[in-house]
Amino acid sequence: MEPAPGPDFLSAESPIFRAFADKLSYLEAGDMARIEAAFVFASAAHAQQKRLSGEPYITHPVAVAEAVVEWRMDAEAIMAALLHDVLEDTRVSKQELSERFGSEVADLVDGLSKLDKIEFASYRDAQAENFRKMLMAMARDLRVVLIKLADRRHNIHTMAALRPDKRRRIASETLEVYAPIALRLGLNKLYRELQDTCFELIHPLRAGVLRKALLAASGNRRELLDKVLSSLSGKLKKEGIEAEVFGREKGLYSIYRKMKDRHLSFLQVLDIYGFRVVVERIPMCYLALGALHALYKPVPGKFKDYIALPKDNGYQSLHTTLIGPYGTPVEVQIRTREMHQVAQEGVAAHWLYKDGEAGSNGELEIRTHKWLQSLLETQSSDSAEFFENVKIDLFPDEVYVFTPRGKIMTLPSGATAIDFAYAVHTNIGNHCTAAHINHVLSPLATKLRNGDVVEIVTDPLAVPQASWLSVVKTGRARGKIRHYLRNIQNEESATLGKRMLYKELLAMGVLPVSVADLNWRQLVGHSGSASLHDLFTDIGLGKRVPAVVARLLLARETLPAPSGNSTLAIHGNEGMAIQLAKCCQPIPGDPIIGAIRKGHGLVVHARDCANISRSYLNEPGKWMEIEWAPEEGRLFQVSIQVDVKDKRGVLAQVAASISRSGSNIIHVATGESAEHVFSILNFTIDVADRSHLEQVIRALQRLPEVLRVSRASSKE
Ligand code: MN
Repeated sequence: MEPAPGPDFLSAESPIFRAFADKLSYLEAGDMARIEAAFVFASAAHAQQKRLSGEPYITHPVAVAEAVVEWRMDAEAIMAALLHDVLEDTRVSKQELSERFGSEVADLVDGLSKLDKIEFASYRDAQAENFRKMLMAMARDLRVVLIKLADRRHNIHTMAALRPDKRRRIASETLEVYAPIALRLGLNKLYRELQDTCFELIHPLRAGVLRKALLAASGNRRELLDKVLSSLSGKLKKEGIEAEVFGREKGLYSIYRKMKDRHLSFLQVLDIYGFRVVVERIPMCYLALGALHALYKPVPGKFKDYIALPKDNGYQSLHTTLIGPYGTPVEVQIRTREMHQVAQEGVAAHWLYKDGEAGSNGELEIRTHKWLQSLLETQSSDSAEFFENVKIDLFPDEVYVFTPRGKIMTLPSGATAIDFAYAVHTNIGNHCTAAHINHVLSPLATKLRNGDVVEIVTDPLAVPQASWLSVVKTGRARGKIRHYLRNIQNEESATLGKRMLYKELLAMGVLPVSVADLNWRQLVGHSGSASLHDLFTDIGLGKRVPAVVARLLLARETLPAPSGNSTLAIHGNEGMAIQLAKCCQPIPGDPIIGAIRKGHGLVVHARDCANISRSYLNEPGKWMEIEWAPEEGRLFQVSIQVDVKDKRGVLAQVAASISRSGSNIIHVATGESAEHVFSILNFTIDVADRSHLEQVIRALQRLPEVLRVSRASSKE
């Protein structure tokens, strides 16, 4: 839908846009037309709105776009800046933006709108650090962060008409959340600007007092400042070093912080004079340093070479402190023009320098790239790809999600709704059945993503499942689940033990009806167990052999002699009382046999398992006949080895085939054959039974890249 032009609709001929367009000469002609279209569209969409100051709303997006242009960002970023409030404030949809301006612009605008939504719902002072991280993690695209910062900057400069309490809230949010982000990205100029503006908004009185004091001091200061300045530049000139020398002004907020944090008086803070020397090339930095050390005596131990050893955020300079006239400390920073740009504009220097000299450009890009790499600590980022599309994940190890009441929870990346439930409360974890993630009902094993709003559905009858252990990520959830399972293991073992004993009795010819008539009480008395429950548990755990107990029981009864045979049915969901052997990983359809393992219950092996033959001969009493009676829908883990031709993308093809066959991949490991002729993929997958597994294997064998598929078995 075309937004209806209102009375204040501005065309591309309007002075507002013409003044802006004059700054876009660094772009290509084609970009110009697209930016014009974005302006006209945004202007029409906001036509009915005014800023609180009474100005047409479009002046705000244009101001934001101007900052983006100052950073020399690309056409998509400029368009997104112009359009950044249309999704929030007007009836325009993302779909429409995407059709008109392309999906890249639509994604940027969408990213910005998402940031807007969370900031009002969930900001809490105590969580500023988490909030910052989450903002950056959510934004993913660095351009979103930069546009957001520009948006913030314009907003705090235009808050005069806002209610004082609202003004203070936005200012402290900016101070705590956005200014540190600017610093982290190396945008020092913006960082100081945000700090000083917000300081004045939050503490107008203190700022006023400081400003007055600064003004009063400046008379005395000026004299000394000028004196040092002229002797510094005079010395450099004499040595033939071309350089610009500036006195460094201290921001109000930085003076305030220094007084507060270091308990210094105003004059003590002010009594340090800062200068900056900017030269053309790196060797000049060291020449300038030598010249200045000859002029004033350096303070020992204060010299730092951040050129040879740049700071983590890419900052480079030489730092030294000299003893100036009257013993006044004089701090000097020496750097090249390029280093200065990086120090001021940080990450934005990448765009700024795009049309600079080819030589310095390349070096700067490499350094910016390196810096971002260290910032991201991610394992892979192809450099060409990086410059096309600056997509980042600043905190790859953590995920930030919300409770329904807006509290931020930090979980390790990969954490599921179960981890979330246990993080909220043990009882929530122990009784969770499902989760509403962003208001959509989702399985508990769902991995959470940044910004998800998670609400856990509980049921008092629900209990933790052993299968959760394979999906949870946090130690807390794992510990709580284990604890619960240990407690119920005894219950399960008792049930199993009872079944095992009954089976034995039936095999001995006792009719099911007569089992109830047995003298259990007397039996327990003779068995040495404290209770019938304990007796069953002992049998289930393999501490007592069911056949022996059965015979003991029958010996005290006058019942028909044993005859016949019977097997125990294994459903596969008996929990901890019955374990499927890891060595042969039996699945329904495989002939199986059970071993009673003391203290562990029943272990189910495949009959052809290589590990069992010796034990079977030595301790026949340990073994019992069992058979499958699996329940519908239950899945079993099994390992397969797939030998493939070593080709790009082969893992993806194999994985896709497995999932097409209706199986889940639990784990995959890759290796090479001894002679390096082919690759080996070891999968652990989920199957219903043997015929399902055969189906998976047949499908794999049809792939041309697959050389061989076999069911893996480990010889322990
Ligand atoms: Mn805005």
